[in-house]
Amino acid sequence: MAALFERIGFMTDREFTNIKLDERFRYDGKDLGAVCEEDRTTFKVWSPAAERIVLRLYREDKGAHCMEREMICGEKGVWELAFERSLHGTYYDYLVRIDGADTVTADPYARACGCNGARSMVVDLRLTDPEGFERDCAPKAQEEQIIYELHIKDFSYDRDGGVPEAYRGKYKAFTVKNTGKDYPTCMEYLKSLGVTHVHLLPFFDYGSVDEAGDERQYNWGYDPLNFNVPEGSYATDAKDGTVRIRECKEMIRAFHENGLRVIMDVVYNHTYQEDSWLQRVMPGYYYRYHEDGRLSDGSACGNDIAAGRAMVDNYIADSVMYWAKEYHIDGFRFDLMGLLTVELMNRIRRELDQEFGLGEKLLYGEPWRADSSPMERGTRAALKENTRCLDEGIGIFSDDTRDAIKGHVFEEKEPGFVNGGSDLEPLILHAVTGWRDGGADFCPLSCSQIINYVSAHDNFTLWDKLVLSMHGKDPDFTRRYEDVLAANRLAAFIYFTCQGNLFMQAGEEFGRTKLGEENSYCSRPEINMLRWHQTVEFGDLVEYYRGLIRLRKKLPGLCDKSPGAEMRITAKSIHRDGVVSFRVNNRALGHESWEELLIVYNASPDDYRMRVPEGSWEVLADGKAADCRRMIEEGVREVPVEGRSGMLLAR
Ligand code: CA
Repeated sequence: MAALFERIGFMTDREFTNIKLDERFRYDGKDLGAVCEEDRTTFKVWSPAAERIVLRLYREDKGAHCMEREMICGEKGVWELAFERSLHGTYYDYLVRIDGADTVTADPYARACGCNGARSMVVDLRLTDPEGFERDCAPKAQEEQIIYELHIKDFSYDRDGGVPEAYRGKYKAFTVKNTGKDYPTCMEYLKSLGVTHVHLLPFFDYGSVDEAGDERQYNWGYDPLNFNVPEGSYATDAKDGTVRIRECKEMIRAFHENGLRVIMDVVYNHTYQEDSWLQRVMPGYYYRYHEDGRLSDGSACGNDIAAGRAMVDNYIADSVMYWAKEYHIDGFRFDLMGLLTVELMNRIRRELDQEFGLGEKLLYGEPWRADSSPMERGTRAALKENTRCLDEGIGIFSDDTRDAIKGHVFEEKEPGFVNGGSDLEPLILHAVTGWRDGGADFCPLSCSQIINYVSAHDNFTLWDKLVLSMHGKDPDFTRRYEDVLAANRLAAFIYFTCQGNLFMQAGEEFGRTKLGEENSYCSRPEINMLRWHQTVEFGDLVEYYRGLIRLRKKLPGLCDKSPGAEMRITAKSIHRDGVVSFRVNNRALGHESWEELLIVYNASPDDYRMRVPEGSWEVLADGKAADCRRMIEEGVREVPVEGRSGMLLAR
């Protein structure tokens, strides 16, 4: 193989090499990795660069190998070996010879692994299914996507949550039915909130937490090690590779049983280290390099995966399909999607639609990257500026909406519309249509491409940002500032009345604070965890969000995702500094709903008297309550909209 490799110029011209490689060695089979059934196990690994590959089998996660076998190189650079029996539960790795040097590597296609992921494991996947998993299916799609972003450990680390000690911070915490508290916590709480999707921060196997270490370790997990294996530190046993798979599936089944769909945060743009399994089996192929040979670093994590090459794209698309099929995942959030390509994202959209039905699986991502990255010739980066090249069913986080509402994410003191910013009225009115009627430096194909949000795991929590921008130096993040609460409610009211999909960070609805910490990716779990008692202390805020969530689902004029949905929004008006209003055509076939909505945002500190148009109107939400019903008496032609609040009227 090395000679062949030299002939196609592997070491001389990288780009030329990769194009040639893709032409000659592209392999589209879906059987890479160890595939194990009742009476047969096959191992396949793609490496046109290898001169020799030896498969080594182990009885246990640790210790010496008990058997080794030479693999055979077949077509397209795929090395393979088959056994006429099930090797379920056997650990393995590969000894790969490239340019005369032998390297040990785990299987980049591994579906299971031992503790810390360095040794892969053969599993018969059917034996990892929890009871009844074959009947598990997602709850019916609802009128709107309301996504709740959550980290697995944050969910149950707080003892106040009432999850048994052994399950705290684990997949298993989601299966606990009764937490024994006198207020709803954990899954009961999530269910009561009314959100439709839970988006989980990365839970593929990542490298930054020692799975044999103590429970006080913490990381968000944006450092992939084994893309097709669940993370071991969330399992009750990280050594036996079947346990993490079964428990991860139990978690997903529990979400489905409680009426929630599950979205997986995926990080295909980089790996934990350059020295990954992908790199060990096929050096140089899976990463981007600058012309001088340096690794590119558009991810700011040390390396960029070279999306745009045939086997890289196959790897990513196949991995997504694997999670969707095997684990019943209902959607994917792409980290730094701007490092991947439009072509790959559209292909993933297409494959998911073909397999599961149009739009059944959600797809969205960050339409940006930390730095530029040398893309493959002929590909386009999946950046915000290329939104119109992306399928209508691929969403982008709208930083425009986020920053207009609450201010810049990096400039902590810089306010947005709700916390004292000025001249933002026109932008807020554009945000309402998901930027379909201008106002931004891009225009989506429809508001289905827009994810409206004001907080996520990155940067300050909404509460902390509002406190910092409204209460200056050394504020007390744990104090219930009434003006911050009002700004928080108004921020929520605004994005819940924008067209597009809705997204919130867990705890936004109960004043979640990280005590002003901006980047808590590896901070103590106590900084990051959800503090369940705050759902009581901020019960009024939680109730307000619950109301907004219920109300949103009843308003087809705002839920409409069609390309013409922005036409529903009329009579946009700026009344004075900080006060805007617009009307929404809320009629929809098959919906018995209000015909028209009138929505007012008053970000100024003073009350505003809003003129009520002709007709019989009622208030469905104001600054204190959402999803209420209060008729406006006949003859009353003005309603007061309190300072720093919103109002939604309907007729
Ligand atoms: Ca791990």
